[in-house]
Amino acid sequence: EAYLAAIEAANPALNAYVTVTPDKARAMAKASDERLAGGEAGALEGIPLGIKDLFATEGVHMQACSHVLDGFEPRYESTVTANLWADGAVMLGKLNMDEFAMGSSNETSHYGPVINPWRRRDSNLDLVPGGSSGGSAAAVAAMLCAGATATDTGGSIRQPAAFTGTVGIKPTYGRCSRWGIAAFASSLDQAGPIARDVRDAAILLKSMASVDPKDTTSVEREVPDYEAAVGRSVKGLRIGIPREYRVEGMPAEIEAVWQRGIDWLKAAGAEIVDVSLPHTKYALPAYYIVAPAEASSNLARYDGVRYGLRVPGRDVIEMYENTRAAGFGREVKRRILIGTYVLSAGYYDAYYIRAQKVRTLIKRDFETVFHDGIDALLTPATPSAAFGIADEDLASDPVKMYLNDVFTVTVNMAGLPGIAVPAGLSETGTPLGLQLIGRPFDEETLFTAAAAIE
Ligand code: GLN
Repeated sequence: EAYLAAIEAANPALNAYVTVTPDKARAMAKASDERLAGGEAGALEGIPLGIKDLFATEGVHMQACSHVLDGFEPRYESTVTANLWADGAVMLGKLNMDEFAMGSSNETSHYGPVINPWRRRDSNLDLVPGGSSGGSAAAVAAMLCAGATATDTGGSIRQPAAFTGTVGIKPTYGRCSRWGIAAFASSLDQAGPIARDVRDAAILLKSMASVDPKDTTSVEREVPDYEAAVGRSVKGLRIGIPREYRVEGMPAEIEAVWQRGIDWLKAAGAEIVDVSLPHTKYALPAYYIVAPAEASSNLARYDGVRYGLRVPGRDVIEMYENTRAAGFGREVKRRILIGTYVLSAGYYDAYYIRAQKVRTLIKRDFETVFHDGIDALLTPATPSAAFGIADEDLASDPVKMYLNDVFTVTVNMAGLPGIAVPAGLSETGTPLGLQLIGRPFDEETLFTAAAAIE
């Protein structure tokens, strides 16, 4: 009831929730009470969560914040949310996001932007919460849920977590099932939690992760007790500092927060090692080929026949065209055009195949440093603090918006786990985050090191 009241009070200003499900929340909470009374509490018994609108939850309107899914009500439940409910969690509603998870500011949503609950000390400007999981991050930061689900294809968990002073982890590719999550770029998409602190993130991920016969890329591997990793000593951990992440024009406050993180880990007994990931500078351009290519294929299913919106035409082809023209927003159309272009017969080798080769090189860079005994890498999570809504500079040039993902996309390209953890404030009093990148399936080391920073 407290969370529902908080949502009612704050959501009109923040726009974090696109659907609130009070009846469902109360029914689930009641069932939780009964289980608690019967002494059979699950790991998340009674914990109220918000769900990113990219996840299907049975009988609850789901739109991936796109006009093209108007009125769509899934008759199935995503595996990740099913796992959470099986552990006793309670659903509060669906959270705003960039349309089909394409964006870094939550401004591409059909439901309009989410407002970051944080403000700069020097201005009253509304700030973006980051994207694409902007609703998840803002809702957690504003205490409109105890934790939230999110997804990350190129940074969509970690960048919004960094912009809102919350913790977000993208686990290793394959750790969580993608079943029931609207696909953006299937070889990069992963689900993970956004939470108020590292311990909460560990508890949530433990519940979300599972192997799933409905997603053949999910991995059969025991899910460790992540919470036990929180509070372990970092003594003796070898933390790599990749020199290529010191990008040109990096603001002084980002350099400073990075140095602070290095100092803290060193003081706690970790060994700091300079390392090189030589192909880093190719990650962003390669990502913006691979991700749109997969998106253009995945989004072909929204044709006015099977889901949501249908705009009639004289024949079926015109119906497809009218539906897709009206249903998709500008950024999604841009991605579909880039994707079909790089996959077209004449350009496939020059762009898509090239990008896949670059992806392999990026993966090898990481394998080399981990092979050399590095346990985790420490980098900034984002190249800046949260920026203003409707920033003209960014709106006029999509590539500038893409540059926001410079520190996060490498992790998806290599399929590795990455966590964003708050590490202090910018000069104007807004949150800044650090990122830790780990070995495949070694989320535990990330929880340990992140807990030493937070
Ligand atoms: N900002 C990136 C993009 O727009 C990443 C999005 C994501 O991780 N879903 O593609």
